[in-house]
Amino acid sequence: MSATDFDVIVIGSGAAGLSTGLAAAEQGRERVLVVESETVVGGSSRLSGGVVMGSGSSFQRAAGIDDEPGDLFKEYMALNTWDVAAGPVERWAGRSGETIDWLAGHGVKFFDRLIFGGDERKPRSHCIDGGGQALINALASACRRHGVEVALGRRVEELVVEDGAVRGVVSGGEALTAAAVVVATGGFGANPELLAEYYPSAWIPDWTWYIGADGARGDALRFAAAVGAQTTGVDRGLRTLDPGLARLNEAFLPGWTVLLDGEGRRFCDETAPYGILDTLVRARGDRAFVVFDDAALRPPEDEREKYRDAYKQVWPNHAPFKPKNYTADMIDENVKRGKVHAADDIGVLAEKIGLPADRLTGEITRYNGLVAEGVDRDFGKSGKFLVPLATPPYYAVEVRPVTVNHTGYGLRIDEYARVIGQDGRVIPGLYAAGECTGGIAGVTYMGSGNSLASACGFGRIAGEEAGRRAEEAARA
Ligand SMILES: Cc1cc2nc3c(=O)[nH]c(=O)nc-3n(C[C@H](O)[C@H](O)[C@H](O)COP(=O)(O)OP(=O)(O)OC[C@H]3O[C@@H](n4cnc5c(N)ncnc54)[C@H](O)[C@@H]3O)c2cc1C
Repeated sequence: MSATDFDVIVIGSGAAGLSTGLAAAEQGRERVLVVESETVVGGSSRLSGGVVMGSGSSFQRAAGIDDEPGDLFKEYMALNTWDVAAGPVERWAGRSGETIDWLAGHGVKFFDRLIFGGDERKPRSHCIDGGGQALINALASACRRHGVEVALGRRVEELVVEDGAVRGVVSGGEALTAAAVVVATGGFGANPELLAEYYPSAWIPDWTWYIGADGARGDALRFAAAVGAQTTGVDRGLRTLDPGLARLNEAFLPGWTVLLDGEGRRFCDETAPYGILDTLVRARGDRAFVVFDDAALRPPEDEREKYRDAYKQVWPNHAPFKPKNYTADMIDENVKRGKVHAADDIGVLAEKIGLPADRLTGEITRYNGLVAEGVDRDFGKSGKFLVPLATPPYYAVEVRPVTVNHTGYGLRIDEYARVIGQDGRVIPGLYAAGECTGGIAGVTYMGSGNSLASACGFGRIAGEEAGRRAEEAARA
């Protein structure tokens, strides 16, 4: 008779948890349990765009893209000014292409065309046909085929610890034992108190909102405190800009907008990837203004074409991006509510948003000059998106980086996804993967596909390692 109820128990059924369960089963472990607090499988992964980063995949090779995991690692390190856990990141990046192929082998359907997720040198973001739900469907089916049990509606309240090792979980008051436990509980975006404490730059009462799943309550942090695990990555994650109008998730700005800092100065290409925008806005006090003119909302018949394709990002698994907040109806309604400012003169608009009239007038005049030249010599926005702000009324709305997409504070892990304790040693029997980890997400979100790659990649690593531990325990 076996000494434990299960070989491996995984807490959470998102991309990280299901990848973990599947990888453990592939190690030959026959008693793998995934415990999920909600009544539906998939967490935030299910709601995601289904874009996954990976370097050196067969899809890249087929598309003639010569990419190497070492380049992903180096770019990741440079982007994050080396302020991430290099060991785990290197191992994850090294297996990222292979993880894409592993997912494909388990029925995840990727489009042949890859995209740039952020500002990387080579396109390495892989788009799943059917988005995040399709990823979860494929992983859940593969888990079922491999005999992994998934228990829904069972929140884990605490970990079972004996002699300094984690030996199981408690759910609904019932203790379930295992040779290894993997925490894959996702982030804490749905928990306002934790956001205020561990992601303070994203927390503005009445502004901040979270676009992920309800289960992202940050239970991993509670487990960490109870077992003496290290946590790291305060104030990291991904915030996107929101004008505070109607909580519409708008990851990218339309190319016809002008983005100004709190001082009224333009500071970047408005079509920049969201991770980069997040960092740029952070460096400017987390406050900015989006300015545009009436032609962008109501283009004259003969100019429609110029405003139609307003996004640099074109994803094969997503309908063309369209403005949500920046539409005529939304803006008209919010001018009436006083949330959007409008004026027939740029100087008057400036006064309405508390900026000196000559500064805003000068900035927009300069921008219109660049548009006339057809080259954004200041910030390099593509000529395709350069349209003048010349049709009154002009509009301005304040934006804040308060749409929380991802949280980056969590359990510190090593390159084998083992959780590290306060004493610097790994906590026997405890592993973690995905958004509940810390030190993997850096100061700048690399781009679309970053977190699912981390969830699936570290999920595989955690599953293999936890499976190995269970095998050793069975042999002992
Ligand atoms: C709208 C949206 C779009 C996104 N698009 C992308 C994208 O295209 N590409 C990308 O890379 N990233 C994307 N992200 C981010 C990415 O989806 C997440 O970071 C990733 O899915 C996290 O995976 P995970 O498995 O760690 O967590 P989750 O998928 O959130 O899974 C965690 C699971 O654990 C469960 N759980 C929590 N606590 C307990 C407990 N105590 N007991 C039992 N179960 C528990 C939760 O209910 C949940 O089901 C997106 C995020 C959002 C919100």
